[in-house]
Amino acid sequence: MKRNKLDLLIFILLVGIGVFFVSTKKSRPQNITSKKITITASFYPLAFLAKRIGDEYVDVINLTPAGAEPHDFEPTTKDMATIEKSSLLIMNGMGVEMYEKKLNEQLAGSSVKIVLAGKEFAIQDIVKDGTKRKDPHVWVDPVLYGKMAQKIAGEMGKLDTAHASEYKKNANQLVEELNSLDRSYKQELASCTLHKIVTAHTAFGYLAHRYGFEQIGISGISPEEEPSPKELKLITDFVKKEGVNHILLEELAPRVWGETVAAETGAQVLVLNPLEGITPDEEKDGVNYISIQKKNIESLKIALQCK
Ligand SMILES: [Zn+2]
Repeated sequence: MKRNKLDLLIFILLVGIGVFFVSTKKSRPQNITSKKITITASFYPLAFLAKRIGDEYVDVINLTPAGAEPHDFEPTTKDMATIEKSSLLIMNGMGVEMYEKKLNEQLAGSSVKIVLAGKEFAIQDIVKDGTKRKDPHVWVDPVLYGKMAQKIAGEMGKLDTAHASEYKKNANQLVEELNSLDRSYKQELASCTLHKIVTAHTAFGYLAHRYGFEQIGISGISPEEEPSPKELKLITDFVKKEGVNHILLEELAPRVWGETVAAETGAQVLVLNPLEGITPDEEKDGVNYISIQKKNIESLKIALQCK
């Protein structure tokens, strides 16, 4: 009996050692493949997508600093070095990044893969001073933003095939949240008295088209474009004539022209966020694309006088 017990003990010990070796052997390749991929995004909504989709497998750098807005941002030499160390550079395209062409030239022949996440979805025209161009603000529409998410997930999956299914799963989860946001927009803006809004810059064309209203931007496609006195007069007259009671301004862009229109017409100022960047305080408080959109729905409900 004693002999049998000893045999059993040795047997258990050997099995234990075997399991230990097999498990150490198995864990080795995981350590090798666990290197994160570095992604640089040109501004906030693209960085948010990359982070949500890539989660633990990526390091995401946002080129536009928190509190700045992307239309007038230019990368520094230090930023260039950061981009060159990335596997993927995500830009929106269609002119948001004034430096797109320059970067394309500088990165030609490098190993950095460039993806223009918004380009193929930017189908609406915008006309200013008789010149027609494509409106780049696709990310403001939650449905189009979902399509951008799936495009980015596909590109990340090509770059890091080992985690392609995770990227797809994360993108699908985000799309579900965006679909829920889309339903809220439809519900909350279903019955409104007004169908026109006055905004700081013309960033809401896709949103307006999807939910059935019209935007009149005080500035043009970029919030830094100063309106002429004639344009300001036209907007002031429009506000009075159409019974618009609210001017929808931004936190990261100049407010002076909008405040002038508000002062001249007696309209109130509200915030409508074009989701182009977040302030350092917002970042600290965990504000993100989804929570900003929920606030935007509230502002639009007031401005459009919805029930
Ligand atoms: Zn913009």
